[in-house]
Amino acid sequence: MEDRQFRNAMGKFATGVNVIATEVEGEVYGMTANAFMSVSLDPKLIVISIGNHAKMLERIRQSGKFSVNVLSCEQQEESMRFAGQKQFEDKFEFDTLAGVPVVSDALCQLSCDVYNEHTEGDHVLFIGKVNDLVLEEGDPLIFNCGKYRRLEALEEVSSK
Ligand code: FAD
Ligand code: NAD
Repeated sequence: MEDRQFRNAMGKFATGVNVIATEVEGEVYGMTANAFMSVSLDPKLIVISIGNHAKMLERIRQSGKFSVNVLSCEQQEESMRFAGQKQFEDKFEFDTLAGVPVVSDALCQLSCDVYNEHTEGDHVLFIGKVNDLVLEEGDPLIFNCGKYRRLEALEEVSSK
């Protein structure tokens, strides 16, 4: 099976878009990621998946902490900035939540400690224990079939 075919298949599954952020020795770093899932309510755990070529991998290992920032549909530029899809001249200013850098105006900011990690193939799964969170109103940025998209409301499906 070709990589492209597998990626096309995975791209059929529409996701939100996150920026993962961490701080190492006073420097803050961000990375766009859509591989994310809620794992456990007790304790509150989430999982992210970081490719073994991404610089973010060692940065999270070094800091032991990271944030997950669920982007709104107004934040496509943030996604492109932290995926290296577009270069920007200006400096990006992060906020802080429970000692971890977070993206302002994200729909959801989760501040996490690394709870566990598992190497699987060419990615590392980081389990994060959520210590604090902030929620904002708004619609999410969507990633589907390799494209950024917005949500559109559908007619409610009758239960009868
Ligand atoms: P870098 O290449 O150092 O950083 C990425 C970009 O962010 C660079 O352009 C850098 O200049 C910029 N940047 C970093 N920190 C700052 C800062 N403080 N201020 C301003 N700019 C900064 N990869 C995965 O491993 N897992 C995923 O789940 C995943 N999902 C993705 C989803 C989407 C929609 C897209 C578009 C990409 C996804 N990627 C994912 C790919 C990943 O975002 C890129 O490979 C990324 O470039 C890897 O970054 P890096 O950690 O190597 O760091
Ligand atoms: P794409 O068609 O490559 O992405 C479609 C889907 O394929 C993604 O949502 C993801 O589920 C999967 N995918 C893509 N690359 C992967 C990888 N290296 N490992 C595991 N799963 C992967 O979309 P695109 O617009 O070409 O993506 C832009 C860039 O972002 C590409 O370089 C892509 O590799 C990278 N990306 C990486 C991941 C990841 O590592 N988990 C996820 C999404 C995008």
